[in-house]
Amino acid sequence: MLWRVSDDADALRIRFWGVRGSVCASGQPFREFGGHTPCVEVRCGERLFIVDAGTGLTALGNELATGAPEEIDILFSHLHLDHIAGLPFFKPALLGGRVIRTYCGNLGGASAKEALDRVYAPPIFPVRLDQLPSQFEHVGFRSGETLRFADGYAVDTLPLQHPNGATGYRFAHKGRIACYISDIEHADPWPPADLVRFVAGADLVIYDGMFSEEEYPRCRGWGHSTWNKGIELCRAADAKALAIFHLHPAHDDSCLRASEERLRAAMPSAFVAREGQALSFAAVAEPA
Ligand SMILES: [Zn+2]
Ligand SMILES: [Zn+2]
Repeated sequence: MLWRVSDDADALRIRFWGVRGSVCASGQPFREFGGHTPCVEVRCGERLFIVDAGTGLTALGNELATGAPEEIDILFSHLHLDHIAGLPFFKPALLGGRVIRTYCGNLGGASAKEALDRVYAPPIFPVRLDQLPSQFEHVGFRSGETLRFADGYAVDTLPLQHPNGATGYRFAHKGRIACYISDIEHADPWPPADLVRFVAGADLVIYDGMFSEEEYPRCRGWGHSTWNKGIELCRAADAKALAIFHLHPAHDDSCLRASEERLRAAMPSAFVAREGQALSFAAVAEPA
């Protein structure tokens, strides 16, 4: 196994809180893979990053609760509803005493503030985010820039092909690399050189596998990809493991288990991400 759940304080750790795309799925047929929309916890050692604020963010917030860091960074792939729906229900925002910073890269340098204020305002929502007890700050950047944080951490970003744009993220910590590449439509030819460079050598690539190859032709232009394209990307980039993510809300457990079997036959270290799944990549010595 390439990963294990470990207490290694220096590990790069990933936990999936929401893996479903577009809209929640619920009920018995979706129990194994889960129904929450995108939210991934990334820990570089103890340092917390949250990628996307889909409904999975509510469960992460409940676990963090009063133990949440005083400053919390939420990195948006983009602002489509499935990626922001958990934001006003995030417990650390409701408990107060926190600064919650959002980062958005697909608005040409503008922050998410104006867009979020349009959604989280009456009559669509009873309050605005800035009326919640914790303080929100919204940071805009241009996808492709490196995000640099006050505590010295840096996260690389890349623009992705998606309606209204989206941003991919690359986390590097103690010799380990995890990339979040969701809400992307594959291009032709595939994979593009900039994306291959971006995920080169990654220990884990989290990739948008919303459609099967059979479904894709009638969903062309919707901004999503297939697990087969994820494998092609990982092979070209020498990436070690692949997590299929942004799962179609109509793909139930039996459908996803069947996809996973085919996926694993093609790439043994690949899997379909499950809500609640935790991975840990132990620190490795970096070259001197
Ligand atoms: Zn989405
Ligand atoms: Zn989207």
